[in-house]
Parts: sequence; structure tokens; C-alpha cells
Amino acid sequence: MHSIAMAMSLHPGMWICYATLYGLIIGSFCNVLIYRLPIMSDPERRSANPRHRNLTRRSACPACGNPIRWRHNIPVFGWFLLSGHCHDCGEPISGRYPAIEFLSGLGTGLIAWLCGFTWIAGTAMLAFWACITATGIFYDTVNRYFAFLNGRPAGFD
Ligand SMILES: [Zn+2]
Repeated sequence: MHSIAMAMSLHPGMWICYATLYGLIIGSFCNVLIYRLPIMSDPERRSANPRHRNLTRRSACPACGNPIRWRHNIPVFGWFLLSGHCHDCGEPISGRYPAIEFLSGLGTGLIAWLCGFTWIAGTAMLAFWACITATGIFYDTVNRYFAFLNGRPAGFD
């Protein structure tokens, strides 16, 4: 057996800790996907949002466009460090970002705990992250649709 696999199997607590940390980071990436994938797939929004038209650009404040500093980009904690406001312009940052990061960390740790260090755990984690991303995009799409019908600007809080 591979030494990492053996260590993870012998110390389930370590595996659960690593999985939770990894889940927090992936949750942060889910936020990026939820925000950028709909923009990237719509030519009109793509040209209006040059900062968010691909996945390689650094995270930026949606209000003022200033890049997020690395210490403010730490999953969940960064948001609390900023008390939910942009460091540069002071505009509120949605509590949905840390909530999704927390949900992802919690769920990934739970899968690690329930399934152990197995392929089933890895597959379940991929499915879980995909579900988070798809749900977020679906919610925003429905929200944008009703905003359009009611003639109010689209957004989430
Ligand atoms: Zn800002």
C-alpha cells in the first residue's frame, strides 16, 4: 500500500482534517465557478465583465474591482477578518461566500469520516462539489430571471 494511503487509513482523524481543509479551499473555488461560469458562457456579460471572463484572474471585489488580498482570501476566516466588507471600497460582501465555503468544508469532512480513505469518498466529494456549484448557478439564474421579469436589478444577498 502506498505510504500516504497507509497513513490516512491508520489515522482517520488526519484524513478528516485534511479533507475538511481541502473542502474549504474547493468551496472557495465553487464560489468562483458560481460567479464566473454564467458570465463566461454569455457573450454579452462576458464583454461587460473583463475581470471575470475567465478562471485564471485573481478574485476581485464585485463592486470596486480591486483584487482581494491573500490574507482576506482565506476561506471563511477572510470574510470575518473583513467583517463582511471590502477592504478598499467598504461595500458589503455577501455572506453567501463564507457560507458556501463552510458548507463545502463540513460536507467534505463528513464524507471523509463516513467513507474513510477510499475511492468512494473521492467520488462522493466530486459529486458534492458539483452539486454545490450547480445549485448556486441555478439559484442565481432563477434570481436573474425573476429580476428581469420584475424589472429590478439582479443580485443576491
Ligand atoms: Zn471593493
